[in-house]
Amino acid sequence: MSQCDTCKSKGQCKTKENCENDKSLPKYGKIKNIIGVISGKGGVGKSTVTGILATKLAKEGYKVGVLDADITGPSMPRFFGINTKRADIIPAEAENQVKFEPVVTSLGIKVISLNLLTEQEDEPVIWRGPIITGVLNQMYVDTMWGELDYLIIDMPPGTGDVALTVMQSIPVSGMVVVSTPQNMVSMIVKKVIIMAQKLNIKLLGVVENMAYVECEKCGEKMRIFSKKSGKEHAQYLNVPLLAEMPVDLDLVEYMDKGKAEEYINSNESYDELLKNMLNEYKGN
Ligand code: ADP
Repeated sequence: MSQCDTCKSKGQCKTKENCENDKSLPKYGKIKNIIGVISGKGGVGKSTVTGILATKLAKEGYKVGVLDADITGPSMPRFFGINTKRADIIPAEAENQVKFEPVVTSLGIKVISLNLLTEQEDEPVIWRGPIITGVLNQMYVDTMWGELDYLIIDMPPGTGDVALTVMQSIPVSGMVVVSTPQNMVSMIVKKVIIMAQKLNIKLLGVVENMAYVECEKCGEKMRIFSKKSGKEHAQYLNVPLLAEMPVDLDLVEYMDKGKAEEYINSNESYDELLKNMLNEYKGN
């Protein structure tokens, strides 16, 4: 009997890339929903949005994990203030294999990142693509996640080999795209949108980060990089707008202190981000 006969997605997968049999499952846990956060390029706030989403979900009472797949610029441990800690590497039951004990944040979010597995935080990773993708897959499969409602993946930026392999080997069911206003209508953002669509991953929408600054005196929102609104940009891209997020220097201060979880409470745009994302996702 072929594997297809017993597959729960029989007749729905259409392409080989969507074959559920090809996707790995975590060995030490059960994950209900996996959401990837991606961007066309680095430095636009992808990790920040990952951290905000995970924090908001945890504050809503969900069990949350974060997989930091941005191997060359892993910043999730810093966001959560756990960068001085190390994840435990424990011998697994099978010979010559290990499992990873994720580091748990003050809100109970389970985080795994290469920066938590290397001896020192500033050790650079000088590996080539196939090794990186193998390690990422191992971080997903061999981490002791336990039961999770949501795993949020901070994806490698762009449409390169590593991002593609993550999307093909991990059953990501929704994708959030992050951009700054000046790149919203650019080719690089379109490329990640098309990549997600081709792989049949539901595109939940786009976050316009650093969209405006808010005047401390009068509360006026001043758009600094583009006169067009996030809504206009999203319409052009033909994807839902999840949130327009401000340049938030208080958030930066808290992130620098590793206390972002404390700060992310009921800021209007963060609430909107979670509400709109869950609306689009309508997960399990
Ligand atoms: P990426 O993951 O896309 O490379 P990061 O989330 O690491 O981007 O953000 C890049 C830099 O921009 C960081 O220094 C971060 O603190 C800052 N940043 C991101 N979003 C905001 C924001 N809304 N307001 C102010 N600074 C921000």
